[in-house]
Amino acid sequence: MNNLVRAEVNSLPVYVPSPPVPDAIVLATNEVPYGPLPGVSEAVARAVAAAHRYPDPAVAAVRTRLGALLGVDPDRIATGCGSVGLTEHLIRTICAPGDEIVFAWPSFEAYPLLSAISDVRAVQVPLTPAHEHDLPAMAAAITERTAMVLLCSPNNPTGTAIRRADLDAFLAAVPSDVLVVLDEAYHEFVTDPDVPDGVAEYGDHANVAVLRTLSKAWGLAGLRLGYLVARPEVAGGVRKVVTAFSVNGLAQAAGLAALDAGDEMRRRVALITRERERVGDAVTAALPGSPIGQGNFVWLPLGARSADFGGFCRDAGVVVRAFAGSGVRVTIGTPEQNDAFLAVLARWPG
Ligand SMILES: *Cc1c(COP(=O)(O)O)cnc(C)c1O
Repeated sequence: MNNLVRAEVNSLPVYVPSPPVPDAIVLATNEVPYGPLPGVSEAVARAVAAAHRYPDPAVAAVRTRLGALLGVDPDRIATGCGSVGLTEHLIRTICAPGDEIVFAWPSFEAYPLLSAISDVRAVQVPLTPAHEHDLPAMAAAITERTAMVLLCSPNNPTGTAIRRADLDAFLAAVPSDVLVVLDEAYHEFVTDPDVPDGVAEYGDHANVAVLRTLSKAWGLAGLRLGYLVARPEVAGGVRKVVTAFSVNGLAQAAGLAALDAGDEMRRRVALITRERERVGDAVTAALPGSPIGQGNFVWLPLGARSADFGGFCRDAGVVVRAFAGSGVRVTIGTPEQNDAFLAVLARWPG
């Protein structure tokens, strides 16, 4: 019998969501635990009245608002169905079949998948023993086939972020016809002053694009709104490639309301980063060598013991994200949720 699905797709792994654990504390998906920002639910309820209408395909109001917030021309902004959707469209905009994308590993799980479905060759460069991007090795991995380098900072799942001096040296080494994409999904949680703001500090580089999202700090994971900042031709190219109407009307209304609640977003982020320090200290004490994270999660480099620890947490009613053979990522929740996780960690015999 003919398998109609092409081989590249057949060989992709199937995403198997972990079975729900009733009444569990879920610290597995890097969401913020405080619900939508004030004003968001009301804005969405109002927008539902126009649900029979197509939304603005140019997403102009959100791009204008983001442009004002970031100090960039809305021409330089493209939006998408989450920054994952936008990453796919950016790859389609920049990379021809057979081109190479260089990224670190372990890093964001979506990168290998998006590369495969775009017929782009993924070149994975191992993180350093300190769980950081190995930028000199990444620069050395660039060939004449390389169209894009994806840098995830802070890196999901390890939490490590790229420092300014290292990024400066890297950008100086990268050819100008290679697009360097900074995935800053966790930008709002960064407290290390040596970690740059990609938009403010590198946004004017001709071969840099910065990806951001409203899914994490802005609390809109369920409505799917991401954006990128790049030079006008790149952002305009992505706007042509993006599936029409992929930022729906509710997401546009919610995005505007969320962006109006920046003070409350920052107040919530401060609660999370304070907890990140507390949980991080306990994790480092239990497991020396754990990296100091800059996202809203911590990383336990447990190697071969990762799956075992993930199962132990699950049995204790705390769902974390175990990457078999590599490590365990734990999202920072409320202080009570974090206490529950730390109690499980303290009980683990492994
Ligand atoms: C969560 C995350 C995103 C954002 O995904 P959305 O599609 O915007 O929800 C992007 N990059 C990384 C590294 C992430 O962890």
